[in-house]
Amino acid sequence: MLLLQCPRCKKQMKYASRTLILGGKRKECVYCGFSFKVKDNILKKIEA
Ligand SMILES: [Zn+2]
Repeated sequence: MLLLQCPRCKKQMKYASRTLILGGKRKECVYCGFSFKVKDNILKKIEA
């Protein structure tokens, strides 16, 4: 699991990924709907 932070509203959310190759993956913020790049907005890794 990764902890992501939305670059627009700054809220944090978890993201489950089976791979650490996050190339062009995007995530839509569950709070404000903004779509951002996963790779550029990782706060930290969480042990699953
Ligand atoms: Zn957001």
